[in-house]
Amino acid sequence: MLGGIQTGKLLVTNLIDHAAREHAGRELVSYWADGTLTRSSWGEVGLDARKFAGAMRRLGMTKGDRIATLAMNHLHHLSSWYGTAGIGGVLHTVNPRLFEEQLVYIFNHAEDRVLLFDKMFTLIVEKIKPKLTSIEHYIQFDGAKAGYPIYRELVDAENGDFEWAEMEETDPVGLCYTSGTTGNPKGVLYTHRSNVIHAITEVQPDVMNLATRSVMLPVVPMFHANAWGIPFAAAAVGAKLVFSASNEASVLWKLIREEKVTHSAGVPTVWLGMFADLDANGGDYGALDMVVIGGSACPRAMIERLMMAGVRVGHAWGMTETSPIGTAGAYPANWDDLSAEEQVDVICMQGRPPFGVELRIVDDAGDEMPRDGQSSGQLQIRGPWVIQRYFQAEEDAVGDNGWFDTGDVAILHPDGTMQITDRAKDVIKSGGEWISSIELENAAVGCPGVAEAAAVGVYHPKWDERPLLIVVRKPGSDVSGADVQNYLIDKVAKWWLPDEVVFVDALPHTATGKILKRALRDEYKDYRLASV
Ligand code: ADP
Repeated sequence: MLGGIQTGKLLVTNLIDHAAREHAGRELVSYWADGTLTRSSWGEVGLDARKFAGAMRRLGMTKGDRIATLAMNHLHHLSSWYGTAGIGGVLHTVNPRLFEEQLVYIFNHAEDRVLLFDKMFTLIVEKIKPKLTSIEHYIQFDGAKAGYPIYRELVDAENGDFEWAEMEETDPVGLCYTSGTTGNPKGVLYTHRSNVIHAITEVQPDVMNLATRSVMLPVVPMFHANAWGIPFAAAAVGAKLVFSASNEASVLWKLIREEKVTHSAGVPTVWLGMFADLDANGGDYGALDMVVIGGSACPRAMIERLMMAGVRVGHAWGMTETSPIGTAGAYPANWDDLSAEEQVDVICMQGRPPFGVELRIVDDAGDEMPRDGQSSGQLQIRGPWVIQRYFQAEEDAVGDNGWFDTGDVAILHPDGTMQITDRAKDVIKSGGEWISSIELENAAVGCPGVAEAAAVGVYHPKWDERPLLIVVRKPGSDVSGADVQNYLIDKVAKWWLPDEVVFVDALPHTATGKILKRALRDEYKDYRLASV
């Protein structure tokens, strides 16, 4: 027997059609690399998307073709996403901060046919161009003409009456590569269906709490897991988007205050920069109501500072492979009964899975472990926006029943809260017990004078590994190793205290702003503790 309800397809083009129809006049703002600001609307972006689709069709692009971008957050980038979806194409966002060899690998592996790039990345493009094997058209997104076709000219040559291609909801629409912290980067190929379900989930109160009246400034770049899906979620509700092609804290604060931004999202390092600017120049949080922080664990001191300022912190966990939302730190049912400190404790954890995804933890033998708030095991996830198979791989990336192994180690609490304790490869194994490098680092950045900290395991003849803490001081600070160790005494278990603290001018970061642990492990692999 068939049900009596229509089976409308879940297509990314429906998101832009909805926004352009129901929220045509809702403003969208773009701050460009040259310091100018333009105002547009969902209606105009909807029209630009159709024009872009027409321009792509004119260049011979068709269903399944990969169209790549090397670009910051701006409105042309947004309309190219939706226009690409409209020809049945696959929008491939590439991270310009990757090493050249990785960029070449990714473009060639994806077999991109078009590359749209920001003027500021022209040098990178020209350097790698001789090694790119599949790109037929190079298009410059912004700035003055410099020998390449210009996005705006191509788009303005079209009349915008393009009819979206016929598509299935399971067709691919987006491609993102993981940053390849181990081995070659791997591509995750999103579908129309996965992006739409993820968008509908993301707007929920317990996830990003987005509504028509929200003003969202995603600091997370559009090349980092599709700016965590925000450009899709915002279209679903007609929220105002404020894009910034600059990540300078002073620019971001100005936009937050002048555009009355209510929501923002970014990795913890972004907020470190924002706080430093606030400390130096003063100012308020404007209308900021909620910030979503994820990509790596959010330090306690950061959560405290934002919560004290009356800003809700949505501590989220996810991966490129999970579109990326896996969990989000919504307030639990007993929030109002908790003390301020207990509330911070809750937000320090990574939150709960929204409806749709399921989590479990397993031991080394693959057996499920209890959700008792104590057992820590390998975190697995499954759901309709979780990867099945990497792009062009021959085998599935998941085990039996769709469980995907995240490579993270976590605790599940009885109320459903998930707590990341570490990445499997980053845990410090001391005498058969595990020390969470994340917890050590996050405790250490609460110490006055410490700007950033990383913990790695170094060789110890008795314990196998002991923690070494690598610290960057705040400008002007002369905090010592003993100061940091003393500060940590009542913050972590005694046997977790780092054996030594070393100071460096800067820590290496991945292309998405996370501390590059692999590089640190390599650098300190022969380090000998003075006590040994
Ligand atoms: P990569 O870092 O390889 O580019 P992703 O951006 O997909 O890949 O990062 C996913 C990983 O980031 C997760 O597996 C987890 O280790 C880490 N991560 C993301 N959010 C959090 C969080 N809130 N707390 C701790 N770790 C996080």
